[in-house]
Amino acid sequence: MASGKTRHLLTEIDTLRRYGNKKIAVFKPQTDTRSGANTIKSRRGDEDTAEEISASNPKEIWPVLRAKESALGCRYEVIAFDEVQFFARDSGFFQLVKHLLDDGYDILASGLAFDFRGEPFGSTPDLTLLAEDRCMWMTAYCTKCGSRAAYPQRIINGIPASYDSPQIQVGGDETYEPRCDEHFILPGRPLPGHDEAQQKIWPH
Ligand SMILES: [Zn+2]
Repeated sequence: MASGKTRHLLTEIDTLRRYGNKKIAVFKPQTDTRSGANTIKSRRGDEDTAEEISASNPKEIWPVLRAKESALGCRYEVIAFDEVQFFARDSGFFQLVKHLLDDGYDILASGLAFDFRGEPFGSTPDLTLLAEDRCMWMTAYCTKCGSRAAYPQRIINGIPASYDSPQIQVGGDETYEPRCDEHFILPGRPLPGHDEAQQKIWPH
């Protein structure tokens, strides 16, 4: 969401490889088609190769990782993941990352905190529990006013997408704009505390 999170991930990977002499394997969910196949790419154009794994079955990382380590002749020290929001909470991704940590791997992960509804997105919030004080919140800026923006506003044909749209729709700057609380628009959002029969529409 134009916050520089993939750029920061790529910078960390480069710094750890270059100056820390660390062996790093990079993965991403197959859902992320925007960066191109087997690639993670920042808006600025920095990129790295990444193995793709299923967003719904991230356990398939294990044979891929073991094969890569066999080819390398030793273990990787760091496992990096981009776009972790695409790993759903019930995909087992949190447990996978915990397992990798328990196995002695360091983990780098980058993901969106909020989806287009302004609600927690996939595995990102859960991973912050593992990251503890090493969690870094990147900042995007509202395209309307320049204030700090937490939410990815989904725009379809120039119109804000409604609350009942699917959670995942891969897109770039043409589909998502960072928005602040004031300029975030979500037609059809149910009012908190109202059951379905009483739902009203926000006046946006
Ligand atoms: Zn704004």
